[in-house]
Amino acid sequence: MSSKGEHQTVPLSVLLKREVAQEKIERPEISHGQAAQSKKGEDLTLVKTECQRVAGDGVSTYSVFALFDGHNGSAAAIYTKENLLSNVLAAIPSDLNRDEWVAALPRALVAGFVKTDKDFQEKAQTSGTTVTFMIIEGWVITVASVGDSRCVLESAEGGIYYMSADHRLECDVEERERITASGGEVGRLNTGGGTEIGPLRCWPGGLCLSRSIGDMDVGEFIVPVPYVKQVKLSTAGGRIIVSSDGVWDALSAEIAFDCCRGMPPDSAASQIVKEAVQVKGLRDDTTCIVIDVHPPEKPNPPLPPPKKQGKGVFTSMFRKKSTESSNDPQQPEKEFCEPDVVEELFEEGSAMLSQRLDTKYPLCNMFKLFICAVCQVEIKPGEGISIHAGVSTSAKLRPWDGPFLCLGCQEKKEAMEGKRPSGDGRYSSGSD
Ligand SMILES: [Zn+2]
Repeated sequence: MSSKGEHQTVPLSVLLKREVAQEKIERPEISHGQAAQSKKGEDLTLVKTECQRVAGDGVSTYSVFALFDGHNGSAAAIYTKENLLSNVLAAIPSDLNRDEWVAALPRALVAGFVKTDKDFQEKAQTSGTTVTFMIIEGWVITVASVGDSRCVLESAEGGIYYMSADHRLECDVEERERITASGGEVGRLNTGGGTEIGPLRCWPGGLCLSRSIGDMDVGEFIVPVPYVKQVKLSTAGGRIIVSSDGVWDALSAEIAFDCCRGMPPDSAASQIVKEAVQVKGLRDDTTCIVIDVHPPEKPNPPLPPPKKQGKGVFTSMFRKKSTESSNDPQQPEKEFCEPDVVEELFEEGSAMLSQRLDTKYPLCNMFKLFICAVCQVEIKPGEGISIHAGVSTSAKLRPWDGPFLCLGCQEKKEAMEGKRPSGDGRYSSGSD
């Protein structure tokens, strides 16, 4: 972890302790439980533990936990549950070692979400779904999300971290601006005579969300590009709650963690659902997954110390990426004297594919340059369209620079950015 240049500021005893601790507690144990009260039957979950991956550096395992809160029917939620994971995995090059695989996840999640949305739309079914999709690899938690289901993490040290975005039009002015710039209209329901009620919605369609998978009847500016956050827990672990809006409309993250403290994950999930329904009644599908990530041989994460701080300081408890902080001569000593806390590895929420797929990325095979960055189909030389085509913001980028998209994915990208009328050419690929 620590580079050689830092040894002067880190006491040897601290380094040795870390080495020993890392060897002993290399991989956490993961336990989980879930509970739900259904009203419409449009909440689905996906739990896959102990997924095996044969890597360049041996076999390793990871776990997947996901929640899909469907609307306007459950077709999009079902389709996404069945296809998203394989679309994400297909976007990760083979032959990566463990660190490279984890680093490739944020980009692969973007590609997988967009491909799943594009494929589902070709089935010409209306309905849409929120997606909160989590991959746990060792102590690294990666969450990709669209919509308003939420994932929150409480570290064993007692900090609460929001791992997902809230893509409600009501609470995101940037997303409202993106949608109106792409040709959508945002406003409240007009009951006649100028009386406007309810939350902000996108028209046509009346969806309250700015991002989802599906929703082809609303407009392609309702994009599937996920907010992605990746953190590394300390070896003390933590507890994660993933819930649909039925829970979060009734409970704050703090109350959700507090109401089930000390309970194993399955009772904790039931307790959270029970509390939420008690507060607001069963007005919506109310689903909860609780995941405990803890050092081996401890059934539950240690109880966090009593809270001293308010909500506002939570994000400041993140330890910066070492590449950023190691250049600062003021910081290293402080960083290493602090108890282990949650380390933020990646966070990005932009809706622009050119930003999301252009991250530095290990290319193990030059021929893979000619594979579509979204759907992974092979592109014949000369037929790939640079993801930067038409972008004039940076002189450094040239239209023949990769990554490349196939024609279909380029059309999808332009539709999401409002550069072609919504729905135009959507059925042209002639699926079915
Ligand atoms: Zn493609």
